Amino acid sequence: MAIRQIRLEGDPILGRPCREIKEVTPRIRELAQDMLDTMYQAGGVGLAGPQVGVLRRIAVIDVGEGPYVFINPKIVETSGEQVGDEGCLSVPGKAGRVRRPMHVKTQAFDINMKPFIVEGDELFARAMCHEFDHLDGHLYIEKVEGSLHDVEMEEDE
Ligand code: ZN
Repeated sequence: MAIRQIRLEGDPILGRPCREIKEVTPRIRELAQDMLDTMYQAGGVGLAGPQVGVLRRIAVIDVGEGPYVFINPKIVETSGEQVGDEGCLSVPGKAGRVRRPMHVKTQAFDINMKPFIVEGDELFARAMCHEFDHLDGHLYIEKVEGSLHDVEMEEDE
């Protein structure tokens, strides 16, 4: 178990697009485990490669339905709409209102490079949109309606 340092807003690596992963090497496997450990330790529900300084298309999410590792994820379907507070481990102590689809269907590869499809609603849908945005170098704060506000604790990721 290894906790990696979380990059914070202002770090240029958070604004850069990530490269696809061609094969799951032992290094990628270790990265995925470290990302989960880092996310749990920080109390978040999602974490993307750039947030630990790695410009590869990998993200982890756990909204309470068990951990998911997404490699080269692609959102293939969305429907509905939700507006709610969102936060990010790279923007600690802040939250802001973001509009997201209510339902998201994603196609990705798992840690064994096996393709899978997963569908999620509400927080899970929001987390997928948020994390996959990171892989294109985007932060939720670009999408906030109104202004960021302070929060006492990280609630959402
Ligand atoms: Zn984030």
